[in-house]
Amino acid sequence: MSDGRDDLAARADEDGIEFFLAMFVDMHGKPCAKAVPRSSLNMLMDGGAGFAGFAAGDIGQGPADPDLTVLPDAASYTRVPWKPGVAVLHCDPQVDGEPWPYAPRVILKRLLSQLEAERGWVLKTGVEAEYSLLRRAPDGGLEIADALDSSAKPCYEVKGLTRMWDFLSTLSTHMNELGWGNYANDHEDGNGQFESNFTYSDAVTTADRTIFFRYMVHMLAHDAGMTATFMPKPFSNVTGNGLHTHLSLWTADDEPLFAGDGDTLGLSKIAYQFVAGLLDHGRASAGIICPTVNSYKRIGVGAPDSGATWAPAYVAYGGNNRSLLLRVPEGGRVEHRGVDGSANPYLSSAVLLAGGLDGIDRALDPGEQTTDNLFALDPSEVAARGIEHLPRSLDRAVDELVEDSVLRRGLGVLPDGSDFVDYFAGVKRAEFDAYHSTVSQWEIDRYLTQ
Ligand code: ADP
Ligand code: MG
Ligand code: MG
Ligand code: MG
Ligand code: MG
Repeated sequence: MSDGRDDLAARADEDGIEFFLAMFVDMHGKPCAKAVPRSSLNMLMDGGAGFAGFAAGDIGQGPADPDLTVLPDAASYTRVPWKPGVAVLHCDPQVDGEPWPYAPRVILKRLLSQLEAERGWVLKTGVEAEYSLLRRAPDGGLEIADALDSSAKPCYEVKGLTRMWDFLSTLSTHMNELGWGNYANDHEDGNGQFESNFTYSDAVTTADRTIFFRYMVHMLAHDAGMTATFMPKPFSNVTGNGLHTHLSLWTADDEPLFAGDGDTLGLSKIAYQFVAGLLDHGRASAGIICPTVNSYKRIGVGAPDSGATWAPAYVAYGGNNRSLLLRVPEGGRVEHRGVDGSANPYLSSAVLLAGGLDGIDRALDPGEQTTDNLFALDPSEVAARGIEHLPRSLDRAVDELVEDSVLRRGLGVLPDGSDFVDYFAGVKRAEFDAYHSTVSQWEIDRYLTQ
C-alpha cells in the first residue's frame, strides 16, 4: 500500500510490537496518544484514531466540535526502547477529512512541502534538548536529584556525570538502538542539568524525535524515582534549559546550500541572507520559540551562579561566540540559541524557516558579524551599535509576533479565515494574564511594608 503500511507491519512484527501509540501534540507540545493494538493496525491506517480535541489541549477545538482524527505517518515508526512491544507513530491531525491547520506538525509539514515544491530545497535541523533531573524534596517541592551536585562550576563535571551513569547510559543506548546517532552526553552548566546529543536530520524527523526524546527522558527519570524537566528556568539562580536549534538548507539531491568555501565563517551567500532574515524577525520570533512566561527568565543579561548565562539577550550573529542569538560554530550551518525547552519543536522550526527564507527572498545582508562578548558591554553601547534586545516578557513578545506579516503568513490561515498567530496570541495572552494576576513572594517582600 502507498501509505507504507506493509513495511510498517513487517517491521512491527519483527520487533514484536503489540501496541502502537498514535501520537500528536497540541500548541504547547504536549504529547497525546491512544494505545492501539497490533490487530487494529489496518483500522488505524484507514481511519486514524479519534480524539476530542478540546480535551487534548490547545488545538483549535471546542467541546461541540467534530473529532480530531489523527492519521499515522508510517515513516515515523519509533520503537519504545524501554517498553518492549510498544511503538510510537507520530500522526497528522485532520478534521472532516482535511489537514487541521491548528496542528503544529501539519503547519511545519506544509511549509516544508512548499519549500520543496517552490525551490526544490530541504531543511535539516539538529537540536540540543537540555533538561534538569530533579526529585521530590521533603517539603513536597522539587530539588536537584543529585544532592552532591551543588558545585559553583558544575559544567562537564565528571563526578556529576558518573553519579547519573545509569540514567545517561540507558538513554544513550536507547537513542542508538533507534539509530539517532547519540554522540555525546554531558553535565551542563546548571546544577542537575544535562544534555544528550543526537545527530541532525530533516526538520520533521528532528521535531518528532524532540517530542519522543522529552517523553523518553520524562519516563526514564520517573522509573528512576526522579522528575525530569525541560522548563526554561526551573531555578532563578541556575542556568536555564535551551533547545538550541541548528539549521541548514539542502537541495533535494542532498547538496549543501549553506556551505561557503573561502568565507571566514564558512557560509554561502544565501546562508548569510538566511541569517539576516533570522535577525530581521528575531524579536517577533521570540513569542514562538520562547513561548512561556518562564522563558523570559532564561534569556536576558545577568548571570546565574555558574558565571555566564549562555542564553541570548541580543539579536546579533557571529562565529563561535556564545553570547549571541545566532552562532556559526562551523561552516554550513547556523545555530539559533534562542529556542528554549518549552518550545514546540514543530512551531519553532516553522517560524525560523519562515523568517530565514524572507531574508533570502529580500536578499538581506546581516552586516558585520559580532566578535565581542555582548554580555560584557554596557547595554547602551550594544544599543548604539543598532543591536536589538530580545523582548523581556511573553506579552511583549506576543505583541511583536502579531505585527510580523511574514511570520503571520508562514504559520498559516485557519478554516475561519483568521491567522494561526492570532489564535496562538490569544492563548498566550491568557497565559500571561493568569500569571500576572498572581501575587508573588517577591512582591510581598518588596512592597508589604514599603
Ligand atoms: P554545541 O554545544 O556546540 O552548540 P552540539 O554538538 O551540542 O553543539 O549540537 C550540535 C547539533 O547540530 C547536533 O544536533 C548536530 O547533529 C547538529 N548539526 C550539525 N551539522 C548540522 C547541519 N549541517 N544542519 C543542521 N544541524 C546540524
Ligand atoms: Mg470515548
Ligand atoms: Mg551542546
Ligand atoms: Mg547546552
Ligand atoms: Mg549549542
